[in-house]
Amino acid sequence: MTSPRRIIVVGGGITGLATAYSLLKNAVNPIDVVVLESSSRVGGVIRTSPFAGLDAVDEGADAFLSRVPWASALAREVGLETSLTSPRAVGAHVWHNGLQPIPSDLMLGVPANIKALATSNLFTLRGKMRAALEPMLPRTTDTQDCIGYVIRKRFGREVQELLVDPLVGSIYAADTDNFSLESVPQIAALMTQRSMLLAARTTRSKTAPTGPIFESPTGGMESLVTAVAKRIQELGARILPDSTVTDIEKSNDNSYAVHCAKTSHIADAIVLASPARHTAPLLAQLDSFATQQLSQWSHASVVMLTLAVPRSQWKHSLTSAGYLVPKPDQRWVTAVSFGSNKWAHWKTPDDAMIVRASVGRDGVDTQSLTDDTIINLTLADLKHHLDIDVVPKETRITRWPESFPQYRPYHFSRLGDIEASLALAAPHVHLAGASYRGIGIPACVQQAHATARAILQS
Ligand SMILES: Cc1cc2nc3c(=O)[nH]c(=O)nc-3n(C[C@H](O)[C@H](O)[C@H](O)COP(=O)(O)OP(=O)(O)OC[C@H]3O[C@@H](n4cnc5c(N)ncnc54)[C@H](O)[C@@H]3O)c2cc1C
Repeated sequence: MTSPRRIIVVGGGITGLATAYSLLKNAVNPIDVVVLESSSRVGGVIRTSPFAGLDAVDEGADAFLSRVPWASALAREVGLETSLTSPRAVGAHVWHNGLQPIPSDLMLGVPANIKALATSNLFTLRGKMRAALEPMLPRTTDTQDCIGYVIRKRFGREVQELLVDPLVGSIYAADTDNFSLESVPQIAALMTQRSMLLAARTTRSKTAPTGPIFESPTGGMESLVTAVAKRIQELGARILPDSTVTDIEKSNDNSYAVHCAKTSHIADAIVLASPARHTAPLLAQLDSFATQQLSQWSHASVVMLTLAVPRSQWKHSLTSAGYLVPKPDQRWVTAVSFGSNKWAHWKTPDDAMIVRASVGRDGVDTQSLTDDTIINLTLADLKHHLDIDVVPKETRITRWPESFPQYRPYHFSRLGDIEASLALAAPHVHLAGASYRGIGIPACVQQAHATARAILQS
């Protein structure tokens, strides 16, 4: 009889749990899977809790892209198909001298059509004329792996600052003037063509929208995590909360000893699905190059402030899903979601408006601010942006310290070096998760499948 391969997954966020699921679902031979999670709960940065009379209001991620299949497929496989819903198509704004509708025909902020820009109040005449030149410019050859550099070169300052940076920046809490182009494949693909605008137009016409762009379980994003955790336990995995991995040692027989404070586990393969900054010290005895490199990874911190605003204080005209604040206009708030407009099921018993405001981003420290300061700064920003005096009937502050990995220019080149080094120094030890090949939930699930496949094939 073959003894089961012992696989340890470090980190019980969506990446770790989805890896365990993919391993157990696809294994042909017996395997033993243990998920070690440092906190008392699984889910990592995905968290949902009751708020303002609603059972489930997300404190972090509230939707995943459904046009890329991985998260959507996983949700369906673990039994959430009937609970999936999509945001209402109510549009969104950018705040720049007032709320301006986000122009149509964009690919992550990259214009696919100059007409939509021409009629927008977001841009000056000069900015529009500069953007309109893009299809006539020769191919950019002296390119750099930096979104801001490329977009400024192709479309000028205004498209970068008022469209691409707020749209991409809101996903990654990033400053796209210091962010890898390659790590946002939708934009990187456009750069392979002579004109990004024409390439965006072609791509959009080939991928005419079918079905919703985003989905979410009505029980909140944490219900996805809970359902995956339940399924992997049914398939035989053990999830051990309160188990912080402190150290990993290689044994003479090519297995590994994975140490927590009070216990140790033997593994034939390890998936490090913990964020890079947590993973770095775990590799100290295995690969000093990987440790040194991963410890330099940057992460941005944000605070999510959720407010229940009495309907009497809300303007009837504010019917969109919310707005983004471009960097030149930013004070503290970077994005505001009008949750009750966006989600039909976020209807509180007293019809309050649920508002979620993101405070801080890469390069802006928010963690040292007190709760009261965060609330006051946010309310002052809402007054400035929307001209409303909000006295919320309920508030909730969720701090997400160092939760958004920042893919600096040439991220993939550095990651390739780390993985090559690790493959030699510590075979069967894998990196997966938001720190590496995509921060969105679908990208995390995709990495989980790829890692599971690599382990099962080896
Ligand atoms: C505020 C916010 C909003 C977001 N919004 C969206 C959105 O709308 N849509 C979307 O697709 N994505 C969104 N994201 C991104 C997405 O939620 C995350 O990138 C993804 O959930 C990360 O999953 P992960 O498993 O890779 O990492 P994590 O969730 O960070 O999980 C890693 C786990 O490892 C554990 N760990 C760390 N060190 C150790 C150790 N030594 N031993 C054991 N365990 C350890 C941690 O406790 C944690 O549970 C958002 C993120 C945030 C923070």
